[in-house]
Amino acid sequence: KQDQERDKDKADRATAELVLDQRTRMILLQMINRGVISEVHGAISTGKEANVYGAVLFSDTTNETQHRAIKIYKTSILVFKDRERYITGEHRFKAGVDKGNNRKMVKIWAEKEFRNLRRLHAAGIPCPTPLVLKMNVLVMGFLGDKRGYAFPRLHNVRIEGDDADNQWRSLYIQLLGIMRRLFQVCNLVHADLSEYNILYNKGTLYIIDVSQSVEDNHPRSLEFLRMDIKNVGDFFRRQGVDTLQDRTVFNFITAREGPTEEPELSQAIERIYEARPAVADTDEALAAIEVDNEVFRNQFIPQSLEELYDIEREANEPVEKKVYKHLLAEHVADNKPDDKQEEGEDAASSDEDTEDGGAALSGSE
Ligand code: ADP
Ligand code: MG
Repeated sequence: KQDQERDKDKADRATAELVLDQRTRMILLQMINRGVISEVHGAISTGKEANVYGAVLFSDTTNETQHRAIKIYKTSILVFKDRERYITGEHRFKAGVDKGNNRKMVKIWAEKEFRNLRRLHAAGIPCPTPLVLKMNVLVMGFLGDKRGYAFPRLHNVRIEGDDADNQWRSLYIQLLGIMRRLFQVCNLVHADLSEYNILYNKGTLYIIDVSQSVEDNHPRSLEFLRMDIKNVGDFFRRQGVDTLQDRTVFNFITAREGPTEEPELSQAIERIYEARPAVADTDEALAAIEVDNEVFRNQFIPQSLEELYDIEREANEPVEKKVYKHLLAEHVADNKPDDKQEEGEDAASSDEDTEDGGAALSGSE
């Protein structure tokens, strides 16, 4: 009897974990019939939210084999706990997400990655080419060699030889340029940028995994940007690169004035290095830099691009006007009724949302 129960338990779990449910299989079959792919191969990666498979497309006419990557988002319910915060507050998803309907949620998630990928691709940022999206199945270009081996993640890259330091430094500069282009041209913050979501080949960095990327007007976009900057800085420091301070990088990425194309991007970064005060090598000076970094990480950060631009605009205004604006703000604040609406639309609607059965998905906040 116990054995029976254990078996049933196992079977239930296996069913829940099975990524290729019936509908997903049908979608793949349809893609094969329509000539999007010819064969699906083994998993390149199995993750919490999605698996990535290699696939090939044979062409009868040219006799060529093209590699593809297929990202299949899991439709089992529990893995999407954390994702809501990336969707809430984005105008592209204003209608809101029916959190009770997991399949729909996964579809929105896949759509988000597909659209973001399109933006990167259109902006000329090295990334997988977005090809076909159907429900939870995203087909994209394969980042790898002709034999079907995927490019390594930046995390696994080792650079040998005398020139290694130099190469790491230029990869760092390349990435800062990409981050600025992503922000200024695509209006996106990656929001999960690290050495795990960047692939590397022959001196080029490829950006992947943009399902959680947010538009720059997302209420938390600048907080996510600060996280991205920290991760990138930490990684390159471990490779021995003399990195710029987080605050400096933040300003470089968000400043409206300035280049968005190479080689001007890299040149602008080199100028920032040149303008930097001589490297401090006393303990006190290093400690002061560390304190400044810490202050930046904890300080008030504008919550949206609009706020950031207000601050920028204010900084460029003559002093008298600034003072006036400040007084005016105080005056307005004094006259605000006590029962003012806290956050506006978004807060109100998310309150409503949690009233139904969506609790399981919003419980992580
Ligand atoms: P996850 O959400 O699971 O982190 P990712 O989009 O980061 O999914 O993909 C997981 C892994 O799959 C990557 O680290 C990379 O090794 C591989 N991968 C993803 N997309 C591609 C692609 N287009 N070409 C080759 N490998 C890919
Ligand atoms: Mg990833």
